[in-house]
Amino acid sequence: MAKLITTIVEFLKRKPSSSSSEAQLEQTNAPENLAVSSLLEATLAGMREGLLVVNKDMRVVASNAAAHKLFNPSVADLKSQRLTELTRNPAIYSAFLDGLKGVERSGVKVETHGPERQVFDLRVVPIGNTNGHGAEGALGVFFDITRTERLEIVRQEFLSNVSHELRTPLTAIIAFVETLETGAMEDPESSQRFLSIIRKNASRMHSLIDDILELTAIEGGNVRLTAAPLQLHTLVQDVCASFAAKAAAQDVTLKNNVPADVMVYADERRLEQMLTNLIDNGIKFSRERGTVAISYEPGTRDKILVQDNGDGIPAQHLERLFERFYRVDRARSRDMGGTGLGLAIVKHLALLHGGEVTVTSELGKGTTFTLHLPPDPRRSV
Ligand code: ADP
Repeated sequence: MAKLITTIVEFLKRKPSSSSSEAQLEQTNAPENLAVSSLLEATLAGMREGLLVVNKDMRVVASNAAAHKLFNPSVADLKSQRLTELTRNPAIYSAFLDGLKGVERSGVKVETHGPERQVFDLRVVPIGNTNGHGAEGALGVFFDITRTERLEIVRQEFLSNVSHELRTPLTAIIAFVETLETGAMEDPESSQRFLSIIRKNASRMHSLIDDILELTAIEGGNVRLTAAPLQLHTLVQDVCASFAAKAAAQDVTLKNNVPADVMVYADERRLEQMLTNLIDNGIKFSRERGTVAISYEPGTRDKILVQDNGDGIPAQHLERLFERFYRVDRARSRDMGGTGLGLAIVKHLALLHGGEVTVTSELGKGTTFTLHLPPDPRRSV
């Protein structure tokens, strides 16, 4: 790459409409200037932001590697290229044009439309003499905001999903309170029924808020794991015990098939949380007189399997199952008090352990969720 800084310095020191004088070049090439210039050179070459300087004729006088990548031209060097030869984007052109008129521009949104869509925030400043006849040149910096934009879209979607999910139970609560207020309270049987609907919807909102806070904490990196070797059989036994009443009510049998001596390396509370979500789903989506079995398989990673013989999940849903709020049957999930966030929480907690969660399912036969956890790092030493 051409000596970018030297070029810019030369360009800036150049008297308007005259070429660089010998004296000026000598000054630019002084040893102390060269040391600073190569430091800046390295900095600019390593910058993620694209940097482009054009002269009065809209020809490139300097650029860095990121700018070259952004414009992706067939030529090896952008130098002397016309801006119009590099891009047809009118937003870029008009920003540089303003720069040459002596007007600073910022917040210009530039999108590329290749196979990989990128979004940039362009800032253009005039450089050199701005003597009433415009500037000597214009310097543009392209900030890559692709990731920020993507995160913003995800955040917007999440917010709109959350509002939608909260609005549904809230609407039901308001409707039933109004019904009670307008006379239903006189009838003890109806009022009892309506109150239990109100309670159900209120606790749905409660679970939803709990899950949202939990997921936000995990995703925001605010959950620290304290992993240690633990006895899996005992942990599974405890989780199964906490579901005894629910399983009995649905006539579902819980089977702990984990051998007593199996040790896994995990954060106890978080593993319990993952198993709770998976076993809860197993019971919820199981058939009457169904079974939810928890087992263990050794390997390069420890595998904990939660297997039910329920209705199974159609194949087209499996890929998106761990997304927030993704549900195969929205109405059924809501009816059972689901938030649609349980599996997203499991996924993030498994990732936090350095592992993952996978699913296999066969319609009419059942579903198996598998937690893959890395072994105790001290085990193999
Ligand atoms: P929910 O609160 O709805 O259970 P989850 O994130 O835990 O949310 O699960 C998402 C969806 O995945 C469920 O709504 C359901 O459609 C499907 N699902 C999860 N576990 C099972 C299972 N064991 N059998 C069948 N479907 C399941």
